[in-house]
Amino acid sequence: MTKTIYDSVSTLPYVGEKRLEALHQLGIHTIFDLLSHYPTRYEDIQEKDLLEIGDQEKVTLKGNVVSEAVVSRFGPKKNRLSFRLIIDHAVISVTFFNQPYLKNKIVTGEEIAVFGKWDAKRKILTGIKILGSRSDSENGDFESVYSANKAIKQSTILKLITEAFKYYEDYIPEVVPPELRIKYRLISHHDAIYAMHFPASEEQKKQARREVIFEEFLLYQMRMQIVRKKQKAMGKGNSLKYNVTDLRKFIETLPFELTKAQKRVVNEICSDLRQPIHMHRLLQGDVGSGKTIVAAIALYAATNVGVQSALMVPTEILAEQHMESLSELFDPLEVRIALLTGSTKTKDRRLILEQLANGELDVLIGTHALIQEGVSFSRLGLVITDEQHRFGVNQRKLLRDKGKDADVLFMTATPIPRTLAITAYGEMDVSIIDEMPAGRIPIQTSWIKPQNFERTLEFIEFQLRKGSQAYVICPLIEESESMDVKNATDIYEKLTAYYGGRFQVGLLHGKMKSRDKESVMENFKEKSLQVLVSTTVIEVGVNVPNATTMVIYDADRFGLSQLHQLRGRVGRGDKESYCVLVANPKTENGMERMKIMTETTDGFLLSEKDLELRGPGDLFGNKQSGLPNFKIGNIVDDFGALEAARQEANNLINQKDFLLNELYQALREAIGFNELEGLDFN
Ligand code: ADP
Ligand code: MG
Repeated sequence: MTKTIYDSVSTLPYVGEKRLEALHQLGIHTIFDLLSHYPTRYEDIQEKDLLEIGDQEKVTLKGNVVSEAVVSRFGPKKNRLSFRLIIDHAVISVTFFNQPYLKNKIVTGEEIAVFGKWDAKRKILTGIKILGSRSDSENGDFESVYSANKAIKQSTILKLITEAFKYYEDYIPEVVPPELRIKYRLISHHDAIYAMHFPASEEQKKQARREVIFEEFLLYQMRMQIVRKKQKAMGKGNSLKYNVTDLRKFIETLPFELTKAQKRVVNEICSDLRQPIHMHRLLQGDVGSGKTIVAAIALYAATNVGVQSALMVPTEILAEQHMESLSELFDPLEVRIALLTGSTKTKDRRLILEQLANGELDVLIGTHALIQEGVSFSRLGLVITDEQHRFGVNQRKLLRDKGKDADVLFMTATPIPRTLAITAYGEMDVSIIDEMPAGRIPIQTSWIKPQNFERTLEFIEFQLRKGSQAYVICPLIEESESMDVKNATDIYEKLTAYYGGRFQVGLLHGKMKSRDKESVMENFKEKSLQVLVSTTVIEVGVNVPNATTMVIYDADRFGLSQLHQLRGRVGRGDKESYCVLVANPKTENGMERMKIMTETTDGFLLSEKDLELRGPGDLFGNKQSGLPNFKIGNIVDDFGALEAARQEANNLINQKDFLLNELYQALREAIGFNELEGLDFN
């Protein structure tokens, strides 16, 4: 049998049944696993100036042994081993307690590194362990530290890795193709792995990491993109050949000129629609960047070809708003549109479902109601979900399944850094609106303590006098909607009393009947209400451009992304807008978040901060986010490498000779050649 890197670790010397079991526990099965069990950190054993070391500090000192080790016993079972070490020009004493067997590791005249506790006054190092006893190897400066467990020690892992190298170093595949190795100046994988375990210098460590990370990212991207390519190759998606002139005309009727970014994403989406592939695209754009209009254009194009579309949104308020704004944009004779939510009356619902099945409806807007049983389209060709992060994976899939060959567009305002989006949703194409419509003035955000709330009321009044409107988001009580309602009601009453007759105040919360919510929203839009007191039901998507003031109670209880969403309800027109955070944070983290909010309105920056403060898991909600766990690559820190790997993977799989060329053999094997077979790569 030929040797390969994927052989079991049991082929190595010193690996018996017990050890094998212990290795398995660490997730190490093959030689490959073992060699990529990289150190979790390195003990730096570079020389340190003795004067800089604090008393009782733990350090590693390296020097030459200048006296033979002497073991002296005191008491029946106690002993002390001591010797002297010369470091630069200073001589220090080293003592080990109760480890007399170390004696033969200490050879006069040889260099040795000892990790221990430093007694600065007496110039004595109380040894904890001897490091870098490989005094013959070239890596004197770092000692690799591995994650280990009770059954298997650090030193054993190191020993096995050394063995693995001895027997398998000629079998380490160079997966990254030579042309990329040159382009990115990567050392060979063989050298990289070696240097990961036994680095000789800081620079070597760096080069090793670069290579290993790039390979890891490249393999991941190759696998992802092949899955996507397969999806595209399987089943012919619809080719929606809408009439380009009609679409142009429609775009001209829009109330404003599209931004450059909007034009770009419209092109990306339309090109997907026209091609006979399954569109699977994420449209990302900060709050207020104008995603709705992009969706409208896609809906128009689909209608123009004669297929039906569905637009799914997370809340009824948002569904109604979309219904309203799309009805304004579309000519009712051209685009027949309907709204279906949980509170659609039975009679209306029946009619809508009938029309839908007969093909008498073009666009259906709605909430989860869209994915219920009994909702069937006659020819569903396009599915759009707005605020897609609010839906579970299953809900999105259910909607997609309603149309077999439907093109799918996900819209989100959760501003994930671009590369992160591409990675997180690796099997999707990503379009980004990275520009706000002209004339937007950045929202001014301030943070006040609750006891100063009176001042905020005055401030709101000042704004109202100028003819604009305000939202007041109520304190948040976790897990108790009824308490939220009580709070909202309290504040509503307080504000009503305060503004008494001068301005009209409305109340909105989740427990209200849908029809009542609707009419409150309607009144707010029509300006018969000037202040809207609300629970967080308005968090997503609501669009009332005349509202310029947003007050958020208990702001410190929200994550940055959510605050940014809430704040995004204002600043949607060309008037100066304000956000007031009312909070008395008890934690450092809370204060930090309030401060950041007052400093930036850049959603991308905020999401990066959110990542920093809460980690990717939280940003995406749960484990299903699909964020991969890389061995050493970090999608945030190593973002440049990830992006490069994505582009190169894309180039590679689109290369005509990818399946044939010798140069890609190792790469093809690493990603499982079989999976590629049967794919039409051209
Ligand atoms: P979001 O991306 O948060 O869903 P919307 O689609 O609700 O944003 O758009 C926010 C506001 O910006 C709306 O009032 C919309 O009419 C307006 N808008 C969108 N695109 C443009 C544009 N190109 N120029 C001016 N205003 C625009
Ligand atoms: Mg929106």
